[in-house]
Amino acid sequence: MTQPVKRPTHAVTVLAPAKLNLTLDITGVTPDGYHTLDMFMQAVNLYERITVERSRGLTVLLPGSRVRGGPHNTAYQAAVAFFRHTGLLAGAFITIRKAVPVRAGMAGGSADAAGVLVALNELYGARLSREELCDIGAQVGADVPFSILGGTARVQGIGDVLRPAPCCPRCWFAVCMPAMGVSTPQAYALYDQYGARMRPDNEAAAAALAAGDLAGLCAAMGNALQESSPSRENGPICAVLRRHGALAAQMTGSGAAVFGVFDSEHAARAAREELAGSYPQCWVLHPVPVGARVLRRREKRGCNRQQHPV
Ligand code: ATP
Repeated sequence: MTQPVKRPTHAVTVLAPAKLNLTLDITGVTPDGYHTLDMFMQAVNLYERITVERSRGLTVLLPGSRVRGGPHNTAYQAAVAFFRHTGLLAGAFITIRKAVPVRAGMAGGSADAAGVLVALNELYGARLSREELCDIGAQVGADVPFSILGGTARVQGIGDVLRPAPCCPRCWFAVCMPAMGVSTPQAYALYDQYGARMRPDNEAAAAALAAGDLAGLCAAMGNALQESSPSRENGPICAVLRRHGALAAQMTGSGAAVFGVFDSEHAARAAREELAGSYPQCWVLHPVPVGARVLRRREKRGCNRQQHPV
């Protein structure tokens, strides 16, 4: 009997989740000017879809997005870092269908970099461990290792110390992105100027996660960047979320997206419905226990597709 010929993988598609900050505290500044952080991050079911095909050159396309695909793009930088690390003399044609809003504090750019690393590892059979991919990702951006691992994690240091945490209890997030995004450097500069009175209680959040206590987690939540944020929409959006019964409502990361935590899907949908009347992008999302992962491999253009359940 003849063995089937194994063709090399031609293209790999990866889904990489957005994140929300359940907490974000700033604990200090390093001598070289980086802020030290202490935060819980949660992956959610809003995914960047990244397809990487074999190619000689390096191209990044983002159809329908205003984000450019050149050397400043996180996806491009991740590919360069991967080829440098592995020494592979190869290229990639990368297509990104963006679902995560830009300048939202939801790590869309980091998810794209994470997706490229996971896809290239699979496409070229490099067999790098998740830890090695995280090390390469950290060269591109502080949130990239989290985007690779996903789930729930406590992140400290300058964003480089990441420990998996117990899963977030069952809940729904009503998430609202205002028309104007926020620049991360500007958000930190304003924090340096104005500081914060309201901070999360990360130890209480850790205990609540360990106990699966949603109310306790929500009581401990907070974002040290929120009071000094340049976004004018935090207050009005939080008010709508609370009116619909959110157990907590706050900005994620450096903004500008704002979310509420609900123990009822119905209430989360009602909040989303009202916010959608005033804001361009609103979702009801839930926690997911995964990070960037392969959705599909294609051996040759148009044939031998292998689909994995999402
Ligand atoms: P984080 O939560 O990690 O701070 P963010 O939501 O604040 O992320 P992003 O939307 O990921 O920020 O990226 C912000 C900036 O980075 C944009 O101004 C954009 O021009 C640039 N950028 C570079 N590569 C990408 C990418 N692949 N996707 C989105 N933005 C990118």
